[in-house]
Amino acid sequence: MITNRTFTMLKPDSVEKGNIGAILEKINAAGFRIVAMKLTHMTKRDAEAFYAIHNERPFFDELVEYMTRGPIVAAILEKDNAVEDFRALIGATNPEEAAEGTIRKLYAASIGENAVHGSDSNENAAIEGAFHFSGREMF
Ligand code: UDP
Ligand code: MG
Repeated sequence: MITNRTFTMLKPDSVEKGNIGAILEKINAAGFRIVAMKLTHMTKRDAEAFYAIHNERPFFDELVEYMTRGPIVAAILEKDNAVEDFRALIGATNPEEAAEGTIRKLYAASIGENAVHGSDSNENAAIEGAFHFSGREMF
């Protein structure tokens, strides 16, 4: 398994607010190489499948609604220790708890609308990357 890659989404709020460029700047400055990237729009079925692990949680319906309300930027990123380093770069799920300078501290509105996704393990990074990209879209 490839262990130096992670998967991210710049969520609909980031696209709506015009924050794609600023967030990509932070990602580049932190030393991540872009392996794959696209603007895409998740269907309800996509979001329910992507977040299936959360389907019993009280926020699930709201999460699916949010993630499908507009386009996202999906990307695979490469760097040594990518999963852990990217989680550090984005900060805590709740922006009120996110460290200064993190992407969520800077650009997230709330625990629900929190600007970006970052994979939580190497295994999930591979699964989530393959959910959005075919092998021939990865460079
Ligand atoms: N979420 C939410 N309410 C919560 C926790 C999470 O709406 O109380 C949303 C939020 O958009 C979060 C996503 O569900 O990013 C997935 O939750 P997870 O706990 O996996 O957080 P993450 O890994 O994104 O930090
Ligand atoms: Mg998660």
